[in-house]
Amino acid sequence: MYDQLTGRYTFACPARGEVRVPLSRFRVLERLPGAAHPAVYKIIFACDCGGEHEGLATHEDLDWAPLAGSGVAFLNLMTDRLEPATAELLDVAAARIRAGDWPWSFFCYPEERPRPVFPSAFRVLAAGEEEVGLAVECPACAQTSVNVVSREHVDVPFYNDRRVAVVEHVFRFDRERAISAFRAELFSSAFDARRRDLAA
Ligand SMILES: [Zn+2]
Ligand SMILES: [Zn+2]
Repeated sequence: MYDQLTGRYTFACPARGEVRVPLSRFRVLERLPGAAHPAVYKIIFACDCGGEHEGLATHEDLDWAPLAGSGVAFLNLMTDRLEPATAELLDVAAARIRAGDWPWSFFCYPEERPRPVFPSAFRVLAAGEEEVGLAVECPACAQTSVNVVSREHVDVPFYNDRRVAVVEHVFRFDRERAISAFRAELFSSAFDARRRDLAA
């Protein structure tokens, strides 16, 4: 599902079979009702073929696989055997998070402050030439803010843009509202935003 070496997720494409896309190619993330352990998200992603398709990802795939990897092995010099690196990588990630180093962050507009976040809180992404418009549902205040960030800010855990552009508008994102309308609004406003500092 997630490949640590390439930082990409594997999904199915009706034209090309299996495709690998980074997180920044996700377009819509929607938590499916029902399944709770683990929670399952419906993903709409922009495919290499030029189309958009749906795929599924679990909460762990979204939030922990980029930190823990999957199928990555390292040579344990004590045992001289290849062993999965998952536990070690998770330990390292947890220590960094405890030290205040966030794998992902965003600027919450209603609260006027940076917040740590995980990809399962991303709701909609709009792609620009170099940057990505990112709608995040704040885990603290539950309001949706839109930041304009670099692709690396989305794709590379523990890489955070020092400054991001913040759209000065509190977006309403709910099931009653058509996702297409939200995406259109995001796309038209995301690239006209003011810069805020994420890093102190
Ligand atoms: Zn495709
Ligand atoms: Zn907030």
